[in-house]
Amino acid sequence: MIDTQQPEVTFALEVVREASELARQIQAGMAVEGIAKGDLSPVTVADFAVQALVGRAIAEALPGAVLVGEEKADMLRQPENAETLRLVTDFTGRFTDGAEPEQVCDWIDRGGADPGDAPFWTLDPIDGTKGYLRGGQYAVALARIENGAVTLGALGCPNLGAGCKEDMGAGIVAIAQRGAGAWCSVTGGDFEPMKVSAETNPANARLLRSVESGHTNVGEIDHIAERLGVAADPVCLDSQAKYAVLASGGGEMLFRLLSPGKESYKECIWDQAAGAIVLEEAGGRITDLKGNTLDFSHGRKLLQNTGVFASNGLLHETGLEAIGAICNLPS
Ligand code: AMP
Ligand code: MG
Repeated sequence: MIDTQQPEVTFALEVVREASELARQIQAGMAVEGIAKGDLSPVTVADFAVQALVGRAIAEALPGAVLVGEEKADMLRQPENAETLRLVTDFTGRFTDGAEPEQVCDWIDRGGADPGDAPFWTLDPIDGTKGYLRGGQYAVALARIENGAVTLGALGCPNLGAGCKEDMGAGIVAIAQRGAGAWCSVTGGDFEPMKVSAETNPANARLLRSVESGHTNVGEIDHIAERLGVAADPVCLDSQAKYAVLASGGGEMLFRLLSPGKESYKECIWDQAAGAIVLEEAGGRITDLKGNTLDFSHGRKLLQNTGVFASNGLLHETGLEAIGAICNLPS
């Protein structure tokens, strides 16, 4: 059993729970306002508010710790974004004292560190921003990295229910620590162990698929499914909630192939870290498309990896073989 009294475990659990509730409150119609980021992906009040909350919490609970977050407050500090900053400040202030606009920007930038050789935390405040805006699945993802490997991860999925089913509303928090298993709690409830599916027949493999077609290669996934003789229906959802579903036996394989025209895409560490350890500790396997271990020792991205393949473990070699046969991977 994971030791929920350990300071780092306690921190991860408490902050992800609180951040998930903050995200949920913002999603509940009070304000979901996007402002364009440099790369035009949608970013919401929740992205900033969650990172502010986690930045503040880490400064208080683990003062010397390094936090590598997805967001930066530069845009929020621009006068034209004063209204967004006001909303971010208001929502953050529901969960913590001392929320003033300048202070909130500083809390966000507490997560502006670059990864170095020392252990660090990485945060995706709202993973699956498109799912979030659609009222679908999303995740708050926090993980600890030591020596290039994930050692602790917490995933808050406010729209998953008991057994990591998509029964919108209850919300789960999953936590995993290297060697101590993966555990899931429906909001407020006891922790139950997470365990991957025991399926070994590829025909019965339920593929966890992205909703957004631009984040992978849909055509090649279809070819892989055909080659494997997959007859089961896929499970489509946004964000690392897919890893929570996989880790609890709600699917068997997840192919993150390289999307056409973006063959040089490298995954961001915060998009994979928490989900990866939850899956591995539940008995699953995660590698890149060539079968290599995900290497978190190259800054903010998985520079040494090509795409991602995750499975229940039992079907991993089968999946890698199909990838090798269908995909023309960059060398
Ligand atoms: P999903 O929920 O599976 O659609 O994946 C969401 C994540 O995909 C976001 O965190 C994005 O950072 C990431 N993403 C954005 N563009 C790409 C891309 N071209 N290939 C792979 N992932 C991407
Ligand atoms: Mg993300």
